[in-house]
Amino acid sequence: MTEPLPQFRYHPDPLATGSIERRDDFRCSCCERRRDYAYVGPYRDQTEEYHFANGDEICPWCIADGTAAEKWNASFVAPDFLSPEARSRMSAAALADLEFRTPSFYCLQQERWLDHHGEAAAFIGAAGVDEFPDLPRQAQIAMREWVGDRPYDGPLRPTDRVNKLKNDGDGPTAYLFRCLHCDWHGMYVESG
Ligand SMILES: [Zn+2]
Ligand SMILES: [Zn+2]
Repeated sequence: MTEPLPQFRYHPDPLATGSIERRDDFRCSCCERRRDYAYVGPYRDQTEEYHFANGDEICPWCIADGTAAEKWNASFVAPDFLSPEARSRMSAAALADLEFRTPSFYCLQQERWLDHHGEAAAFIGAAGVDEFPDLPRQAQIAMREWVGDRPYDGPLRPTDRVNKLKNDGDGPTAYLFRCLHCDWHGMYVESG
């Protein structure tokens, strides 16, 4: 039986974003248990074994319950990525939740973490023009605005700059976030 995945406030669907993968034959390097899911995003660890550098994969439960943070001094999302406003308004517990118990994601350059309403936003995934049609409307508007298209236009036109965005490992790729308190969607773009 497959155990339901833990909940992550700042990364609500890590399966959809690709940071967590379904696995058939996986044993977590941290808790040493057989698990149905592996975390395949980045982390930092302060151990003599250099677990991340050595490719040791961990399970989502070791992220969620803080086992990786405790056992390996692992961290995932640096609070430095947040705006000064979010850093000052989030509680120490919320900042620790983001840093030590939230799956991160691979970005073509240095990953960042957007915030809104004084709190880290939820990461909803990387996207390009191929993903555009399936994005929530607010995300489409944010994306069009970011690249300089007319945000409220109907279907994409061949001249729209959104057409240049690709989630193909080369980019330019959009990294999308959604506010936990309002309808705001935000993004940043990186190229390989
Ligand atoms: Zn584990
Ligand atoms: Zn907001």
